[in-house]
Amino acid sequence: MRKHAIVAGNWKMYKTSVEGHDFVEEFVNLMLNIENMEVIFCPPFSALFNIDVVLKETPYKLSAQNCHWEKEGAFTGEVSVSMLKSCGVDYVILGHSERRHVFNETDEWINKKVKAVLNGGLKPILCIGETLDQRKSDETRDVLFYQIKEDLNGVEKLDDVVIAYEPVWAIGTGVTATFEQVSEAHKWVRDILSNLYSQDIANITSILYGGSVKPENAGELFDIKDVNGFLIGGASLEIDPFKEIILTVNEKLKD
Ligand code: PEP
Repeated sequence: MRKHAIVAGNWKMYKTSVEGHDFVEEFVNLMLNIENMEVIFCPPFSALFNIDVVLKETPYKLSAQNCHWEKEGAFTGEVSVSMLKSCGVDYVILGHSERRHVFNETDEWINKKVKAVLNGGLKPILCIGETLDQRKSDETRDVLFYQIKEDLNGVEKLDDVVIAYEPVWAIGTGVTATFEQVSEAHKWVRDILSNLYSQDIANITSILYGGSVKPENAGELFDIKDVNGFLIGGASLEIDPFKEIILTVNEKLKD
């Protein structure tokens, strides 16, 4: 039985500051009775501060979607860890497939970001996952190994690190990985962590699944032994599906 779960909603580049504030206020007013799980809102930078005002007295957490590794400097358009902290942020999504594939972020950059986030006292949600071509050529395990090894290079403790397995071909496409594909990949991730760290560390690290999670498939996906929760894009943009997924996970935690 799993004792803890995480459900994070990645809004990507959707919702203005006011829209985000109103959304979260409505969500908080639902007064959901959830236990043993963390619910994280990941709005765009511009909405963080306004949303933190609503979340302050609640159990809900706040995450950014990216950051720069330097403390400050001439990096037009970038945001540092301390800037995020001043907005009340707890987590930072790093290495999201859109950052890797649309903005060409390298594993070296992601590694610098992971270290900066941890050094700054925040928690990275590190996204990893294979492209469709890599899956078709049977490279998934190797890709996951490479990304984990490079992105966590020099990171000794994983206490504050969350990993999200997100097959690139399943993100925002409506195509969900099958039960077998998710089981296999999550087991690989745990084995890789066990090889690189230890079995104990591997056992307690939260590994989320992301890729077209919706209310209809959340229960089945959360039944997978090594799945500790979800990183959700599209279905986190509206109250009802996001709430349904959270309640499904919460019910399953009681099993
Ligand atoms: C994501 O953005 O991380 C994601 C998994 O998106 P979606 O749920 O829309 O596939």
